[in-house]
Amino acid sequence: MSRIALLSWFIPLFLVSLVPSPARAQDDAAFTNCLSSLRAQAVSRKIPATTFERLTAGLAADAEVLTLLDRQPEFVTPVWDYLAGLVDDERITDGRAMLQEWQATLQRIEAEYGVPAETVVAIWGIESNYGRTFGRRSVVRSLATLSCFGRRQEFFRNEFLTTLQILEQGHIEPEALVGSWAGAFGHTQFMPSTFERIAVDFDGDGRRDLLGSVPDALASTANYLRRSGWRTGQGWGFEVRLPDGFDAVGAGRRNKQALSNWIARGVRSATAAPLPDSDTQAGLILPAGPGGPAFLVLRNFDALYSYNAAESYALAIAHLSDRLRGAAPFSTAWPTDDPGLSRAERREVQALLRERGHDIGEVDGLIGANTRRVIQALQPELGLAADGRAGKRLLEVLRATR
Ligand code: CA
Repeated sequence: MSRIALLSWFIPLFLVSLVPSPARAQDDAAFTNCLSSLRAQAVSRKIPATTFERLTAGLAADAEVLTLLDRQPEFVTPVWDYLAGLVDDERITDGRAMLQEWQATLQRIEAEYGVPAETVVAIWGIESNYGRTFGRRSVVRSLATLSCFGRRQEFFRNEFLTTLQILEQGHIEPEALVGSWAGAFGHTQFMPSTFERIAVDFDGDGRRDLLGSVPDALASTANYLRRSGWRTGQGWGFEVRLPDGFDAVGAGRRNKQALSNWIARGVRSATAAPLPDSDTQAGLILPAGPGGPAFLVLRNFDALYSYNAAESYALAIAHLSDRLRGAAPFSTAWPTDDPGLSRAERREVQALLRERGHDIGEVDGLIGANTRRVIQALQPELGLAADGRAGKRLLEVLRATR
């Protein structure tokens, strides 16, 4: 999500103490006034006033959500770190178990929406670790806050009012509706407006429940991809090798040419299976520049991209789906001598840092800003560049010096 500046008075206001101050009182009043205007909008959407009152009773703004809205990344994540954490052995093993467990449902989903089981399961694995992490914030509270403060209020107001409609219709229990700070929820993290357009009741209980029903969530995800232009029977693309001296000018997901054109320019499959010599349109992407893996991506890659608007995200889904089918890792190495870490290795880094007496919070495999600052401060004494990054080299030095 794009960076959104906060009103300057807002940050200290909610981050200070619980002691009431004049500024704090003013802001509570602003939130109360804002809720009143939302109530009027809710009524115009046929949400009964009693429902509005019930769902917003005692609601206070969530200051943390606004901090997250305004967050600027302090550290740039290389694509190989991003993929190493998302497509690791754990997620492949867990995903294969889910393919087994939900086989019958996934077959029905594939028959109805034309999207392969492995693709749907890959999105599930990356969005919520197969239903293990939904986010912990009240969606109503987050969206009410974002509707009243910050620069994208119009967008979030629609999401907030749509949430009330979803709850009014009884698809999800209000107390169960938790999600990300921006209001995405469920097994595959739908925004409320996406829910409204796309979510389906696949288990036939009359409710579209993306938190409580795996069949509803997975079928809704397949429906999303179908509506985004998924082409049944076509893959997402191919890892390729470029000929020496290849001119990569004009590369890009959107600059598609026929596969036969790419072949004529000397591009070859990087795996045992040759590229189809056809007029199927494909774009060339080089996620780490010309020195790293290269991919020819088809229309279905764009459907994956539309789920989260990042090429690295689409590549993670694409690659995880291939690995779930038994495919090998990419054949070309990332252009680094310090590869990224799996979640198991990240947990090991955290445990080793903790063993050395550093306060890094919970050992959860998520290297957050706090842990990165600890790493950055420690790296010089370990003989490493102080970049705050947890890579293979840091793990090796921590192991060797414990
Ligand atoms: Ca249902």
